[in-house]
Amino acid sequence: MAATLFQKVWDLHAVRRLPNGQTQLYVGLHLVHEVTSPQAFDELRERGWRVRAPERTFATIDHIVPTRSQVRPFADGMAETMTSALERNCREHGIRLFDLASGAQGIVHVIGPELGLTQPGLTITCGDSHTSTHGAFGALAFGIGTSQVRDVLASQSLAMSPPKVRRIEVNGRLAPHVYAKDVILTIIGRLGVKAGAGFAYEYAGDTIDRMSMDERMTICNMSIEGGARAGYVNPDETTFAYLRGRRFAPQGDAFDRACDWWRSIASDPDAVWDDVVKLDAAGIAPTVTWGINPGQSVPIDLPLPDPESVPDPDRAGMHEAFEFMGLRPGHLMTGTRIDVAFIGSCTNARLSDLREAARVVSGHRVSPHVRALVVPGSQAVRAAAEREGLDDVFRSAGFDWRDAGCSMCLGMNPDKLEGREVCASSSNRNFKGRQGSPTGRTLLMSPAMVAAAAVAGEVVDVRSWTSPDNG
Ligand code: SF4
Repeated sequence: MAATLFQKVWDLHAVRRLPNGQTQLYVGLHLVHEVTSPQAFDELRERGWRVRAPERTFATIDHIVPTRSQVRPFADGMAETMTSALERNCREHGIRLFDLASGAQGIVHVIGPELGLTQPGLTITCGDSHTSTHGAFGALAFGIGTSQVRDVLASQSLAMSPPKVRRIEVNGRLAPHVYAKDVILTIIGRLGVKAGAGFAYEYAGDTIDRMSMDERMTICNMSIEGGARAGYVNPDETTFAYLRGRRFAPQGDAFDRACDWWRSIASDPDAVWDDVVKLDAAGIAPTVTWGINPGQSVPIDLPLPDPESVPDPDRAGMHEAFEFMGLRPGHLMTGTRIDVAFIGSCTNARLSDLREAARVVSGHRVSPHVRALVVPGSQAVRAAAEREGLDDVFRSAGFDWRDAGCSMCLGMNPDKLEGREVCASSSNRNFKGRQGSPTGRTLLMSPAMVAAAAVAGEVVDVRSWTSPDNG
């Protein structure tokens, strides 16, 4: 019978139906980091339990790790304690840890794919909401809470109810300077941040087909911001080309056999989706958030919406957002002064993101009133960027060039906004307080748009932007 990838992979991993109606789902890959795992390991220890499948469990440090100096012991006692706890837990349970000395450390959703751990047809869990990133490879990837981290460590399985599947088809050519980030911000803006509740999103259409794996990861990464439980793209030749030769991917003949199987799990053309949404890529402009959730966004050349023009339930939230952000309906986002420019996070800190941002800043200087930082998603991304000289481009422009980590995506480490600073950010969340200051303000956008804003000192349209330096 025709089926979606979601149905096929779900059925292959279903262990049994639980008395409460949920499914016990086998987990093929469990990714662990320092912040959501200490309590889970403690609970295992208290019960005298062992990790069920250490060979399917991999760890890294990313959330709390400082990015300016990673010399141990860390100046931040909490970061040192959490890192030491993860090291001890991995040693005790025989889990492979990609630590700072490994050369493979980085944001968990960046290193999984680049190491070839993330593969089509897997079920993947991690104690971080943006685990949906791994769906770019045709995996079912779920962000889980600490108690579920404990459950997966102990049983290598998870109790879940299957979500419905919404196919989001994007067709047409993206205009120059319009990126995957603009596509996903547009999708969330159109459907809303709650529309995905009870759904997994399948991204399809010729626009998605043409995207690189980095771009597909950006799209899937923010599925959770649209309320979806997961997001995925059907595996294809782009997926296989990315994975070939990666450290943990199958090698030689085994890789070719794996490709045959990966092809077979893609959604059948006559599969039935619970919902289908279609978007025209040609109509998407560089997009920026103006509010306090990722659905409150606007194409850069259109005025901010009027709360009075939307139905009652949304109106109060829009008024709250305008007040918090200090913005006004009807105005344009261009010209909004920024204080901080952050290029980083599991959404947009891969090599291709850094290349695009470097292309924009090359030969320019960061505006004197802006502090700007580039935080590569992994040690491997950092090293690759340095081989291309991107670090020199950023440093010459006045950016801080940092070590890998989550950094200012979540303000759980020394990289934080101060007071009411406004940050042009390539990350994924603009909730109040997300970047470390309760009153700090986040504007989400593509890395190229962040780069242009850093130089201009204000939000600009990267399509038409020319810096003061070049007139
Ligand atoms: S970069 Fe942000 S969203 Fe991604 S794993 Fe780190 S904290 Fe989570």
